[in-house]
Amino acid sequence: MEELYDVIILGGGPAGLSAGLYAGRSRMKTLLIEKGASGGQIALSADVENYPGQMLDGETGVTLSARMAEQCQNFGVERAADTIRAVQLTGEVKRLTGGKGEYRARTVIIASGASPRPIGCENEKEFTGRGISYCATCDGAFFRGLDVYVAGGGDSAVEEAIFLTRFARRVAVIHRRDALRAAKSIQERAFANPKIRFLWDSVVVRADGNDVLNALTVKNVKTGELTEIRASQEDGMLGLFGFVGYLPNTGLFQDQLPLESGYIRTDEDMRTAIPGVFAAGDVRVKSLRQVVTAAADGAIAAVQAERYLAERQSLSEQRL
Ligand code: NAP
Repeated sequence: MEELYDVIILGGGPAGLSAGLYAGRSRMKTLLIEKGASGGQIALSADVENYPGQMLDGETGVTLSARMAEQCQNFGVERAADTIRAVQLTGEVKRLTGGKGEYRARTVIIASGASPRPIGCENEKEFTGRGISYCATCDGAFFRGLDVYVAGGGDSAVEEAIFLTRFARRVAVIHRRDALRAAKSIQERAFANPKIRFLWDSVVVRADGNDVLNALTVKNVKTGELTEIRASQEDGMLGLFGFVGYLPNTGLFQDQLPLESGYIRTDEDMRTAIPGVFAAGDVRVKSLRQVVTAAADGAIAAVQAERYLAERQSLSEQRL
């Protein structure tokens, strides 16, 4: 029979790692399941400048999340590298089934986060990894000296456009409106960067190339005009980075939990509609999705999971 954990945390981003830290410190038997490396979305981020106290030179999303993971481990949190394919969340014992087996726990904290939303252009899948990317930190260096295009106008798009200027000859931000959504301080840095220009009121409708991406068709949403952008013969390719928001990783929970626009609804103590099941971080309905709010959610969820277990324990003692 598989181990019975006090809490299983699904996801190893800042919400899951913070939940792990608090669960481990309170000596709950804790398993954190993550299919890939730690960090979630911040592992895709070159710079995390707005996490309180984060002023270390050279700190990246990867190094910050690696320290968070180590901190969890120091408090005895176990880890499983697995992809969960089915969950059964009702009842006293919750079951999560992954490629490598079944996991059981009395409580579950869902911290499965969100994934990049596709840009929505023709041939996007074909050129993903061959010129189209969703991670500047991972792939920016492949575009050294080339022209790079960034789709989106939020914090991610503008911050990553700035980051990409380290490698690219120049970077064009393609945004569907004529005003950015990104924070003003980020906008100011982008507007002051001579390597960055903006294609306003525009969306990418098509990607083309041979082995690699070498042309984009951009549509002006106001005039309907289509413009083809081609890499020069000498360059042979160009880059397109998509930062048009995120989609919550909630497919597993669709039939089990109430969702709002795909996100899990919780109360302010991270409780979902199912007793013993909590959700933390970007996966839940909330107004601000940041590392600091994900970490706070994780801490609250772990403390509430502990309280839930303590209440169950005292109820069963009263019954004796
Ligand atoms: P976001 O804030 O949701 O912005 C998405 C951008 O993509 C928007 O500009 C949006 O345009 C555009 N967009 C959406 N769908 C599109 C489509 N189908 N085609 C073309 N454009 C489309 O996403 P984000 O920038 O990834 O940020 C996600 C969250 O993380 C936010 O809460 C953000 O503040 C946070 N974040 C914070 C930081 C930081 O503080 N340093 C860094 C990264 C992310 P419209 O503006 O027209 O809607």
